[in-house]
Amino acid sequence: MATTLQHFIHGAAVAGGSGRYGDVLDPTLGVVAKRVPLADRAETEAAIASAAAAFPDWAAQNPQKRARVLFRFKELVEREMDSLARLLSEEHGKVLADARGDIQRGLEVIEFSCGIPHLLKGEFTEGAGPGIDMYSLRQPLGVVAGITPFNFPAMIPMWMFGVAIACGNCFVCKPSEKDPSVPLRLAELMLAAGAPPGVLNVVNGDREAVETLLTDPRVQAISFVGSTAVAAQVYATGAAHGKRVQAMGGAKNHMIIMPDADLDQAADALIGAGYGSAGERCMAISVAVPVGDKTAEALIDRLRPRVESLRVGPSLDPDSDFGPLVSAEHRAKVRAYVDLGLAEGADLVVDGRDFTLQGYESGFFMGGCLFDRVTAAMRIYQDEIFGPVLSVVRAGDFEEALALPSSHPYGNGVAIYTRDGDAARDFASRVQVGMVGINVPIPVPLAYHSFGGWKRSAFGDANQHGMEGVRFFTKIKTVTSRWPTGIRSGAEFSIPTMR
Ligand code: NAD
Repeated sequence: MATTLQHFIHGAAVAGGSGRYGDVLDPTLGVVAKRVPLADRAETEAAIASAAAAFPDWAAQNPQKRARVLFRFKELVEREMDSLARLLSEEHGKVLADARGDIQRGLEVIEFSCGIPHLLKGEFTEGAGPGIDMYSLRQPLGVVAGITPFNFPAMIPMWMFGVAIACGNCFVCKPSEKDPSVPLRLAELMLAAGAPPGVLNVVNGDREAVETLLTDPRVQAISFVGSTAVAAQVYATGAAHGKRVQAMGGAKNHMIIMPDADLDQAADALIGAGYGSAGERCMAISVAVPVGDKTAEALIDRLRPRVESLRVGPSLDPDSDFGPLVSAEHRAKVRAYVDLGLAEGADLVVDGRDFTLQGYESGFFMGGCLFDRVTAAMRIYQDEIFGPVLSVVRAGDFEEALALPSSHPYGNGVAIYTRDGDAARDFASRVQVGMVGINVPIPVPLAYHSFGGWKRSAFGDANQHGMEGVRFFTKIKTVTSRWPTGIRSGAEFSIPTMR
């Protein structure tokens, strides 16, 4: 009998009351391991009410005290790193080392958020006019919500709630229903670290919970990460309900390989960035763009044996390079894209569609696939596949290579491999993509910078974490004050100026 998970509302585990449940799978074994309750409107409203009740006191705490809670939270998470990583790996299917990285990257945002006393300092102008001082304050918004995807069940919730809570907001997290156990445990640890009940709630669910968060007038801001179709809809609905919204979507990340690049280094980078986490990363490289046919041939020669020898295995086996895909349904979608690529006329250099693992025949495994001679018109190039499938699109020259990611509908990440500083600098300056790597395959910015793509990879203009996150989760108030000592100018009817 599968375990039944709960919600975490107002500092306590709460059983689901809607009567609707989703399956949480073990992708390595291909079985239903747990059931997750899918909240209805009333249950989601209970989480919002809890956050609203906790907000006045939490916002009134001085920022140093809020930072201390985050310090303790970080220590508690670090103490549980191994068990959390295992839990994450079992539900998601990513290998243990990668699961640890997922948690660690989230913790780095918590570390950044511990600096909140410094980050919240406003600006002050003494003597902006006669006896006049002017200053700005950053104040929390109130109840804010985060809706997160399956592929980073630790990092992405922490991107959001770390900064939001530090700023004095109270948070409702609606994690992916595919792997909700780690976010639930993080909420318990936040309570143990000293955050009062209601500061961090986790409500499990699907569309119904999301729609409640998007339409409830008590929710001031929505941070969303997931697929582009849902991101666009979340952005439009949240904005129509007067909320501040940041909504990150899907991706198709290119790596340009210039003829002067170290091709062994580029091939190794492509293997890690293309096939790590079974390609289920929004910053995965899914398109390699060698410049010139000679570069393309030499690159394919290096990629083919590397893809053929990828070690696909159980997520908990330390020898696995990558584990299973998240569900049978998702694997069927990825396989269908490989079928489509063949139908569209691309060369399938390595075919991993029929990979099976002895002893794990029901697991959602798939081997690495490599396509050559993919063109910009093909759907396997246009669409996000989100699996272990790398497409090689050959470019004739630098300008052609630059144009590919620049004119692609997605604009999350991009990388260039070259030894030529001029070319790299020109590329970084002109490419129409939000995050750029120069000889770095997955340019995920660190916590004190900010994360966000362009075009259909992100809706709204505020990135995640860094100062962008602090701005997103606070509103500015500007105070103009005069302490007049003997100044009397009578009534003024025209707009005050500094002439
Ligand atoms: P998803 O869009 O299916 O789900 C994301 C969240 O939205 C989940 O919490 C889910 O319950 C909810 N949801 C799903 N359908 C909904 C609907 N119709 N109405 C309201 N809510 C809905 O995404 P996923 O499959 O969990 O995650 C993978 C996607 O996320 C990929 O496209 C990946 O590129 C993207 N992603 C983007 C970033 C980024 O920062 N740009 C980071 C990670 C993942």
